[in-house]
Amino acid sequence: MSKSILQSEKECFITGYQGQLDRHHIYAGNRRKASEKYGCWVWLRHDIHMELHDRNKALDRMLRRTCQERFEEIYSHDEFMDVFNMYEEFYPIAIA
Ligand SMILES: [Zn+2]
Repeated sequence: MSKSILQSEKECFITGYQGQLDRHHIYAGNRRKASEKYGCWVWLRHDIHMELHDRNKALDRMLRRTCQERFEEIYSHDEFMDVFNMYEEFYPIAIA
């Protein structure tokens, strides 16, 4: 298991809850492997995790943006685009 780039404690990234937690990979589908490799994941309380996947698109977007910012602090924007094979049109921070 890689080390998360977003948190060091094992607690819910949103609430700080330390009970039963799920690990959420921030970039899913064919980007899940890279998410794991680069530590783009967070701990979430189970109900928040389920809600995120079922209907909370705002939370999903917030996590993707926060993680991209952190990734680019550590590596670079180019590396982010490269690793996650993103197209500029999906790049959320570029809208300044
Ligand atoms: Zn998840």
